[in-house]
Amino acid sequence: MSERAAPYYCPYCGDEDLVPHEGDGEKGAGYAWACLSCSRVFRVKFVGLRAAGAAGAGTARTDGNA
Ligand SMILES: [Zn+2]
Repeated sequence: MSERAAPYYCPYCGDEDLVPHEGDGEKGAGYAWACLSCSRVFRVKFVGLRAAGAAGAGTARTDGNA
């Protein structure tokens, strides 16, 4: 994964004025973005894939004892 994931909204103030925050690239920790509205710098990091939706779809609905 070498591409920078682009957030569309600031998670703190909801503004759309986001610019890449250069000079703070930490490998494996995601890229930093700076919000021009609230001046916060945050990262977007990939955590993993959720497994509950795909694996447990067919077993949770059988609530009858027939
Ligand atoms: Zn913001």
